[in-house]
Amino acid sequence: MQLIDSFGRVHTDLRVSLTDRCSLRCTYCMPEQMTWLKPETLLTAAEIERLVGVAVALGITRVRLTGGEPLMRRDLLDIVAGISHLPGPPDLAMTTNGIGLERMARPLAEAGLRRINVSLDTTDPDTFLRITRRNRLDDVLAGLDAVAEAGLNPIKINAVLQRGVNDAEAADLLAFAIDRGFELRFIEQMPLDAAKSWTREVIVPASEIIAELGRTHRLTPVDGRGHAPAARWLVDSGPAVVGIIAAVTEPFCSACDRVRLTADGYLRNCLFSLEEQDLRTPLRSGATDDDLAEIFIECVSHKKAGHEIGQRDFRQPARPMSAIGG
Ligand code: SF4
Repeated sequence: MQLIDSFGRVHTDLRVSLTDRCSLRCTYCMPEQMTWLKPETLLTAAEIERLVGVAVALGITRVRLTGGEPLMRRDLLDIVAGISHLPGPPDLAMTTNGIGLERMARPLAEAGLRRINVSLDTTDPDTFLRITRRNRLDDVLAGLDAVAEAGLNPIKINAVLQRGVNDAEAADLLAFAIDRGFELRFIEQMPLDAAKSWTREVIVPASEIIAELGRTHRLTPVDGRGHAPAARWLVDSGPAVVGIIAAVTEPFCSACDRVRLTADGYLRNCLFSLEEQDLRTPLRSGATDDDLAEIFIECVSHKKAGHEIGQRDFRQPARPMSAIGG
């Protein structure tokens, strides 16, 4: 059995949000005060392991743990160990803001985590404070050092550029990443903020980032993107690579193979989906694995061709990115 939609896209990538809470308050993501999901609605480690097991039996081969901030889950090591011990274990990765990684990097690697993406929009402490409302840059940098020492590979840096805030830092971030052997990926800001204040004007588009980096580096497109959200370029003949996820200005929905499980147990077939399927209620009411698999199959089968950002009837989903999982 496969997770296949009506456009023939086979889904092999599951993003699992572990919590909507975060240790930062990035201005493009969430306001200082948030209303969090109720603790009793969050899936337990055992429930997450079971649902991921059902998804793996349906052809999921890659699992990415997200949030909110996954390091805020006290049972994170149990979740990582549980998923990495599933039969035919999926390739297990995590996206994090890096705070707490200094302590957790090695245990996570030992529990079975293979790859990691760390969000870092600036290497300037003042700009970091302005973007995240928290003075934690040193913690993130220490976390990056720790994952490198723990042997996770590759280590990717996710950076969001905002007009008038850090849009002059593309080259500095690339120099930082190359110097430490990390792969840098810029992500265009999407209309998924909790405040619903996104406008197209805040985006620094992929074309502008490439032009800026091209002033100081020779960039050569890397072929064979497949289903990956990031287009990639070799930097000065390599081995360094830089990627851009241009979800707004150059959508890649036609190759999408991703489905998302929220921290409170709802399945979403697209970041921008206005509908989601409840897995938690059947899971807690005695559903069999076959029953749960049916919900996965049904959800993916109704996936739209892609997001409709920029179209007249586009509507931002009720859940912000922090409650969906990136
Ligand atoms: S917007 Fe939806 S369909 Fe497009 S790439 Fe993202 S998740 Fe996939």
